[in-house]
Amino acid sequence: MTVVTRFAPSPTGLLHLGTARVALFNWLYARHHGGKFLLRLEDTDRKRSTEEAVSAIIDGLAWLGLDWDGEIVRQSERMERHAEIARRLLKEGKAYRCYCTPEELAEMREAARERGSPVLYDGRWRDRDPSEAPVGVSSTIRIKSPLAGETVIKDRVQGTVTVANRQLDDMVLSRSDGTATYMLSAVVDDHDMRVTHVIRGDDHLNNAARQAILFQALGWTVPEFAHVPLIHGADGTKLSKRHGAVGVETYRDEGYLPEAIRNYLARLGWSRGDEELFTTEQAVEWFDLDRVGRGAARFDLDKLRSVNAHHIQQARDSRLVEAIRGPLAERRGRALKDRDLERLTAAMPELKPRAKSIPELVEGALFVVRDRPIEIDEKAAELLDADAKSLLRDLAGVLETLGDWNPSAIETAIRGYVAENGIRLGAVAQPLRASLTGRTTSPGIFDVLAILGKGESLGRIGDAGEG
Ligand code: GLU
Repeated sequence: MTVVTRFAPSPTGLLHLGTARVALFNWLYARHHGGKFLLRLEDTDRKRSTEEAVSAIIDGLAWLGLDWDGEIVRQSERMERHAEIARRLLKEGKAYRCYCTPEELAEMREAARERGSPVLYDGRWRDRDPSEAPVGVSSTIRIKSPLAGETVIKDRVQGTVTVANRQLDDMVLSRSDGTATYMLSAVVDDHDMRVTHVIRGDDHLNNAARQAILFQALGWTVPEFAHVPLIHGADGTKLSKRHGAVGVETYRDEGYLPEAIRNYLARLGWSRGDEELFTTEQAVEWFDLDRVGRGAARFDLDKLRSVNAHHIQQARDSRLVEAIRGPLAERRGRALKDRDLERLTAAMPELKPRAKSIPELVEGALFVVRDRPIEIDEKAAELLDADAKSLLRDLAGVLETLGDWNPSAIETAIRGYVAENGIRLGAVAQPLRASLTGRTTSPGIFDVLAILGKGESLGRIGDAGEG
């Protein structure tokens, strides 16, 4: 059997981390089994669905690297198929038309509440003769749900869930305007898409028994279910904006790497021994539904940050240059030139260990792409007094004669210079750093010189040594 999973978001808002995690679990499970991961947009609610939300989902999944197989299925384009199945159930006597008015339904709900009964609809049209149907009143279509017995779901995460059928009322399959409800459309589409595993948030657990009944009524195989706990804030409450329930694009814009988000979300509520940090390939190899925990997953921003810091260290230099070139260009107010990109790539091994996040990396890399004369911050300017300036002019003369421009040749030359003149290395290194980076902190000074190259370094030292 080929495993087929699906991610079926309703395009009504942003792609939140919680939803992205459901997508990730579906993707990991499909990829682990060499199966298919499908994308279905549950966009039948025309009022709430927007194209903006569709783009947010597509862009978010693409950024996260969760590629789906085949065409995107839009539920709104399948409404005729859903209606056809509703008619089939009617014809087979497995469903019936219900002519209750909204007022009647409200009364039933009230009565059920008073009785403390979970059954909301009392089945009053279930066995009535259709000839009694009022004229000119549109009807809904309801399933004839079994009145006795129980429905058992062997949920891969929640375990065995048994629901007494008398607790379930005859749910609506098709509304009075003829459109299918979520219950019907999801079941028809899962069947038609040959979905074998329905992995989704545990807020849908209650729907599983009803959907299983519907699958059975249609003579279709019930897929395996796995209802994964939703993400909660660190304080245990439902994830809200305050906790980071923003769209995944916010994390992208804040400089999180998609592989870090994947690692973090995979680890959240799923474990493999003590493994905390892993690559996506490892997650695909290891992922299994049976190890998804039943407790609510707690979102922890500090943890996400540290996972991100780890993935920054692991990332290829060229990839990090790509990640920072946009923000750097913005900070610089101009597009980066080839020369900038070359220098950034050369500098990355020195810059990377100093950064826990992409914004920190941007900050640390800024000196590389500055235009002369570079901006010198206040603290750095304090280091450039008259003595320092004359020292820099003197040192520039020495560096000028240097043939090989690499960190070790530069180091030998500068150490030779300080030894000869009886001065401390720091007395030279600090003003040098100020002149080259405009800051008082930076990678090692010999590396800075090597990264910038001879011409640019001497230019910057000259600018600072003036006056
Ligand atoms: N469209 C539903 C949602 O966004 C998903 C339903 C399902 O996965 O069956 O919550």
